[in-house]
Amino acid sequence: KIHKTFKDAIGGAHVVEEVQFVNKSGIKVLARVYASSITSSNERLVQVIFQDVTKEREIMENMEKSATDLARLNKMKDSFLGLASHELKTPLTVIMGYSELITTDMAERIDPTVLEMVQNISNAAARLNNIVKDMVDISMIDEKKLQLRLESIDLNRLVEDSVNELRFFFSMRKQEVIINLDDSIPLIKGDPLRIMQLLSNILGNAIKFTPDGGRITITSGSKYLLRSRQTPMTHDQLYVNIGRERHMYLQVAITDTGIGIDMEDQLHIFDKFYEVGNIEEHSTGKIAFKAKGAGLGLAIARGIVEMHSGEIWVESQGSDPVNFPGSTFYILLPLDPVVGDATLDYMNLLR
Ligand code: ADP
Repeated sequence: KIHKTFKDAIGGAHVVEEVQFVNKSGIKVLARVYASSITSSNERLVQVIFQDVTKEREIMENMEKSATDLARLNKMKDSFLGLASHELKTPLTVIMGYSELITTDMAERIDPTVLEMVQNISNAAARLNNIVKDMVDISMIDEKKLQLRLESIDLNRLVEDSVNELRFFFSMRKQEVIINLDDSIPLIKGDPLRIMQLLSNILGNAIKFTPDGGRITITSGSKYLLRSRQTPMTHDQLYVNIGRERHMYLQVAITDTGIGIDMEDQLHIFDKFYEVGNIEEHSTGKIAFKAKGAGLGLAIARGIVEMHSGEIWVESQGSDPVNFPGSTFYILLPLDPVVGDATLDYMNLLR
């Protein structure tokens, strides 16, 4: 192998080979051999550099193994999520069904103390049901099984509807809501229920992570962007489709005057189960300040946006629970989430 390396190098090629050696102590050493020819005062010489890459290779192999292990673990987590949510659904339906029956139809025949207990069971089951629903949604998004029911929707009305649904919570937390809607934006194709769910998740977080008396501002508008509408984006694609033509997108921005989010957390909060900071510091409850959830809300939000070929991101100057720098969540939706149009995307242009 070494002889061939020399011969190829003398022939003018730059050769890079890996050769296994055994050192005096019998330990295997992997060398990367770089060979090239040089001319020095009319003499053709071959210059060969041996670089010990044993450690490098070991690290590479370990990294590859870790990556495979991680991928396997991730897969296990995903299938556990799907399985657990389906297994939890049936008994939960039974608990909810019976407790509802007791608290409604049988209420008069039951001791008030027992009735109150059953009411508590019923409330807890309803909370658990919301978590299970989120688990079902996220596993359907992961498995690409979530079906959108597309229809013409008025994004402004959906913003108003989701704010109205949460009015009670805003007032409980004494938070001011400001809605700036651009009435000139066109209808878009989307799944109204899923978009409501997306907006509720973002607004729900704004309520939770903004102190009492804070302000939440929702703005809608449109803009033209040089983006391809080609394939729906997925978060493992590290590029943005840049098209040749400008397409109109609708944007909803939700700004709060809350605790803010650190730069290094801004990408990860859209991952499932990601919780910022110390979990023990979170309080319980659905809308309490800094209330802890299951960490699925934003993952679902991103899944819904991406299925609509849109994009979601957050901007914040950082997390500061004293000065409250706030955060703004941006949602960008195309007018029509059609898969595949003639516009070339950026990667195709590069190719
Ligand atoms: P959770 O159920 O914990 O709210 P999410 O996926 O909705 O899960 O959010 C993930 C994390 O992102 C939250 O635990 C919180 O730390 C952070 N976060 C989300 N929205 C905001 C916001 N408006 N302000 C500050 N932090 C936020």
